Amino acid sequence: MTLKKSREMILKGISGSPGICIGKAYVVDREGINIIERYPIAKAMLSKEIDRFKHAVAKAKKEHAKVIKALDKDVSETLNILETHMALFKDKMLYGRTIETIQNEQINAEWALRKVSRLIKLMFQEVEDPYLQSRVNDIVQVSDKIMSNLLGARDIKIADINKRVIIVAHDLSPADASQIQLERIKGFVTDRGGKDSHTGIVAKSLKIPSVFGLARATASINNDDILIVDGSSGLIIINPEEDTLFKYEERLARFEAYRADIERESHLPAITRDGVSLNLMANIELVEEVVSAKDNGASGIGLFRTEFLYLDLKRFPTEEEMLIKYKELAELMAPEPVTIRTLDINGDKFNPYIDPVEEANPALGLRAVRFCLENKDIFITQIKAILRAAAFGNIKLLIPMISCMEELIQVKAIVRQAVMELERDEKVFNKDVPLGIMIEVPSAVLMADELAKEVAFFSIGTNDLTQYSMAIDRRNRRVAHLYQGLNPAVLKMIKMTLTAARNNNIEVIMCGEMAGDPINIPVLLGFGIRNLSMNAASIPVIKKMVREIDMENARKLSDALFQFITVEEITRFVQDAFNDVIPYREVEA
Ligand code: PEP
Ligand code: MG
Repeated sequence: MTLKKSREMILKGISGSPGICIGKAYVVDREGINIIERYPIAKAMLSKEIDRFKHAVAKAKKEHAKVIKALDKDVSETLNILETHMALFKDKMLYGRTIETIQNEQINAEWALRKVSRLIKLMFQEVEDPYLQSRVNDIVQVSDKIMSNLLGARDIKIADINKRVIIVAHDLSPADASQIQLERIKGFVTDRGGKDSHTGIVAKSLKIPSVFGLARATASINNDDILIVDGSSGLIIINPEEDTLFKYEERLARFEAYRADIERESHLPAITRDGVSLNLMANIELVEEVVSAKDNGASGIGLFRTEFLYLDLKRFPTEEEMLIKYKELAELMAPEPVTIRTLDINGDKFNPYIDPVEEANPALGLRAVRFCLENKDIFITQIKAILRAAAFGNIKLLIPMISCMEELIQVKAIVRQAVMELERDEKVFNKDVPLGIMIEVPSAVLMADELAKEVAFFSIGTNDLTQYSMAIDRRNRRVAHLYQGLNPAVLKMIKMTLTAARNNNIEVIMCGEMAGDPINIPVLLGFGIRNLSMNAASIPVIKKMVREIDMENARKLSDALFQFITVEEITRFVQDAFNDVIPYREVEA
């Protein structure tokens, strides 16, 4: 008998989305425009190199003109910025100097362009005039567009991948992830990324097993290596031994059988053993996901993240375009509720066609409602579309990332303006749409009592509430160990929010990832939460659990919870008390 030498290697990362897949690796270089090679160009070839640069500029200009043409004329601020960019393509400083640099230094166009744009950036940064300083962003964007055309052929489009593979990438943005075609991709793993990042959320809704934050995945994996992705435990196995492969094939079969079993029961109501009824709703990113929400037994859409529609279009949708989507959603779900959240871009959901403000800490920057209040034309366009769609179903309006009363006052003024304009234009709409805010910033928790007097409902976003309370970047694998569901600080924030809502008689829904993780359910129910919104795929599991829980026991558990002060103690306490209803991770995987 010959003993085969093992090449098996295990890497531990962070669970992106649960499930197991086994397949061949497809390594994608997504560093894109950050890796710029420098190489000399022979004198005789210089004019060809300059032509290559000119060609890239012309192509970038053409693409840019298309974006401008497709833009709704309402969004005049964006239009102004884009028109400024148009002029910058042939700007002497950028265009002329890059050609000179190729010529004088006899180097490739990419390197010359990067050198020149860096020099311009430095020059502008020393100028004190804020207007001129803001031009730096414009230059960076224009040169990035030219650069991606220069690098062109090497920039692999994941939307075009047409093999049943497991994607291995350095990083994937939520926009990249949303382009992945479910039937073509088995799973994906990345070097970067943290817990509850938006890429993970997209992966979960596509039911694609994924592991993030592996640090060395792209360095350790070669194309066509066999991979096992264990999304539930957050590990991957590269070139597994036969025994390992066999073990995982068995687990995969068990997982699929388990999923089929609970999905069969997903139409049953979510009622605890002692008769308390719950609303289990779905978080969705695209209207098409309504089908899966319904299949999984959702009693409404608790969170519609509208930014993905914007990401897909690569420009701002018009009021009419949004109306069509929102109306379709409202009609498909009626009479069940649909909570439409206004644009939550920037942070980690960056938007390629919006002027990216250079921010050292994007999560703390011009994100969500902050961006919308600075871009009122974009904001009011979306609010009008939501109010109009509300004439066709049960729609609620939700504002993300409110951090103070001033923002809420401004939002309400914009909603009033939208109502006035719709009345003036004699549009069919519903002006009594319930207005709610996300509670996801600690300052909003502290002001919850005051905020509750101004809105119809709260939606607790535990993904950001954890990020901002614990000061841990959602995308950063190095601090992901601090990102835990049963964190006592976060639990106390949730309790405070619930108390404020109860005192002011308003509704609360929880829509962060915490709501879809079985271990948290007894605690949340005990706290008094009755509306949970989660990834559609989690609904059957949580529903099954709810049906096995005694509310009285959940209440007792949550009353006794704060005698413990570490996550580990709290988790053990919950596990011990609800051992028989919490699904095993092993089975879940
Ligand atoms: C949250 O922050 O918990 C949330 C639901 O919103 P998002 O994940 O889109 O930031
Ligand atoms: Mg959030």
